[in-house]
Amino acid sequence: MQFSSLEIKKEILEALDTLEYKNMTKVQDLSLLHTLEKKDVIVQSKTGSGKTLAFAIPVVNLLDIKKYRIQTLILAPTRELANQIADEIKKICRFIPNIKVLTLCGGVPFKPQVASLEHGAHIVVGTVGRVMQHIYETKIDLSSIENFVLDEADKMLDMGFYEDILKIVEVLPKQRQTMLFSATYEENIKELANSVLTNPLYIKNEEVH
Ligand code: ADP
Ligand code: MG
Repeated sequence: MQFSSLEIKKEILEALDTLEYKNMTKVQDLSLLHTLEKKDVIVQSKTGSGKTLAFAIPVVNLLDIKKYRIQTLILAPTRELANQIADEIKKICRFIPNIKVLTLCGGVPFKPQVASLEHGAHIVVGTVGRVMQHIYETKIDLSSIENFVLDEADKMLDMGFYEDILKIVEVLPKQRQTMLFSATYEENIKELANSVLTNPLYIKNEEVH
C-alpha cells in the first residue's frame, strides 16, 4: 500500500513525499490502519523493518498542535535510539509549524531538560531512567498523554526496566493508546503487555521491507 492512500494530515503526506517514501514497508502496512484508529497494538517485527514510522505517523496525526501539552510519551532503551526517533518524527513534521519534540535521556545534564520542560512540549521521547527522574523530581505533567509508545520493549526488559516501566505507566491516564514494539515476543513481553495494554491487537511481521 502507498502512504497516499491513508487519511492523514496532508502535511505528513507532503513530508513523506519529500523523503521519497512512497510505499509502506510490510510492518507499516500491517499496523497503520489500526494504530490510526487509536487501537492498542503489540508489534513484533525485525530491526530495519520501519517500525519508527509505524508509530510516528499515528502519533503526529493525532496530535492537537494548538494544545501545548505533552500528548505523547515514547520510551526507548538508549539515548541514541531516542534521538533517532525524535529525528524521524521531526522529519515527518517538517511542514507542521511549531511542533515541539523533546528528548529526555540520561548521560546529558538534567537541569537544561528541566528548563526545556518548563517551555512545554507536544511529544516527549526518553529513556526509562531519565523519564522516571523527571516524574519524581520535576513533576513533569503527563496527564494529557493520548498515546504511549514502548519501542524496543524487549531491549528495555533485558536492561531490567520492567518495574520502572510499570511505575511510569502508573502516572499516565488510563484512557490512552499504547503501542508496544519489539523484535521478539517472549514471556516477559507478554507479561508487560498484559499490564500495560488494553485489548491489544498482536501483529507479527516476518519481513524487513
Ligand atoms: P526499525 O525500527 O524497524 O529497526 P526504522 O524505523 O529505523 O526500522 O527504519 C529503518 C530504515 O528504513 C530507516 O532509515 C527509515 O528511514 C527507512 N524507512 C522506513 N520506512 C520506510 C518506507 N516506507 N520507505 C522507505 N524507507 C523507509
Ligand atoms: Mg526501531
